[in-house]
Amino acid sequence: MEDDVKMKCGLEIHVQVDTESKLFCKCPTNYKDVPPNTNVCPVCMGLPGAKPMPPNKKAVDVAIMVAKMLGCEIVINKDIYFQRKHYDYPDLPSGYQRTSVPIGVNGNFMGIGITEVHLEEDPGQYKPDLGLVDYNRSGTPLIEIVTEPDIKSPEEAREFLKQLMRLFRYIGCLRGEGSMRADVNISINYKGVQGNRVEVKNINSIKGVYKVLKYELIRQKNIIRRGGTVKRETRAFLESQMITKSMREKETAEDYRYIPDPDIQPIVIDEKWVKEVEEKMPETPLEKEKRFIREYGIREDDAKILVSDLELADAFEKVVAGLGKEKENINLAVTWIRNELKRVLQYNKIDFFESNIKVEHLIELIKLIKDKVISQKIGKKVIELLVEYRGEKSPKQIIDELGLTVITDEDTLEKACDEAIKNNPKAVEDYLNGNKPALNFLMGQVMKLTRGRADPKKVVEILKKKLDNQ
Ligand SMILES: [Zn+2]
Repeated sequence: MEDDVKMKCGLEIHVQVDTESKLFCKCPTNYKDVPPNTNVCPVCMGLPGAKPMPPNKKAVDVAIMVAKMLGCEIVINKDIYFQRKHYDYPDLPSGYQRTSVPIGVNGNFMGIGITEVHLEEDPGQYKPDLGLVDYNRSGTPLIEIVTEPDIKSPEEAREFLKQLMRLFRYIGCLRGEGSMRADVNISINYKGVQGNRVEVKNINSIKGVYKVLKYELIRQKNIIRRGGTVKRETRAFLESQMITKSMREKETAEDYRYIPDPDIQPIVIDEKWVKEVEEKMPETPLEKEKRFIREYGIREDDAKILVSDLELADAFEKVVAGLGKEKENINLAVTWIRNELKRVLQYNKIDFFESNIKVEHLIELIKLIKDKVISQKIGKKVIELLVEYRGEKSPKQIIDELGLTVITDEDTLEKACDEAIKNNPKAVEDYLNGNKPALNFLMGQVMKLTRGRADPKKVVEILKKKLDNQ
């Protein structure tokens, strides 16, 4: 970014909690798999007189866990009540959304301050093109994470969200990027002139957040450069055009007329409850890294890279378990997962879980290499194809299809060696005159003739035998 532009950005991130039932009623939350308006009851349709149940315990547990993992202090021994946040939209039949006061506060994740973590209910879905409001989603628990305006670039926002989604996968019980909606606040200072804060609402992907910030940065800079004022307002993201558009002047908290929901008893989280959640909490990335070094005796930088991708770290452990925990197997797993597979994943810009590669296939591949059925070189090729086929073909299938097995057949190897010797009299002469590296050259020729499939050990043996007998 140019030095004369300073950006300040804060995020509000909503992600669905993966509970069986909704936040205030027993309706199931699998809203995507069923016909419209089938997972509904008077509570989540906001019918007059319907009374909500106490908040879903699992949703509260997950909120505590997320807050803890983000380094927040949990708000204990205090009434945590749900407020009614009023606004009018067809997907919100009661005219208000229930949203809790903070459950965790003052956290920090990747150097970005976390203001608070709280629970909310998801509204329904208004589908204007179908003339339909579907209340299946209404009442699904959401976690909202509010950050401080500590983010300084679109790239930093993107990395923060990526790591956050990774953390969610560590935690489990959350629906991740597919259910994410983010609101971003952005203000800039251009050559000393401060613009107002602009909010862009309802962005549903990490890429979208990145695009919005890029777009707003330029838009706001141009306004200030022309001597104008950046208005304080709320904007919408038009994903199809990758631009933002003014919706309304920013509403204030007063516009929402927050009141505590008189139908819901406040919850009180005590130390015992926090302890209970802590006991169920998964390893943090840092804990996992330390355990990998201790348990597998691998180097710190190897552990760091493996742990940076939860599913890759899990795969590593399963592969080692499948091969047997001897040092040789651990080294092979590090070489082929942390080095080779990671390299190919990075080249394709995907994470391990997106590659659909199966752990059994990795075990199979490493065994093939270990048993010298294929060479290291072919191993690298197979890894590339495993990624390319997205887990649909096993290493054995790939090798068979491409005819990539190591040639150990003596006759074939002898023939290739004879040819290499015949075609390269100079190298043969050099070798016989005591120039040992000339053997490597001949070996390279044999490899060429067999397209990399010859068993190198055997080739050396055969070449030596033939040359020494000349
Ligand atoms: Zn319901």
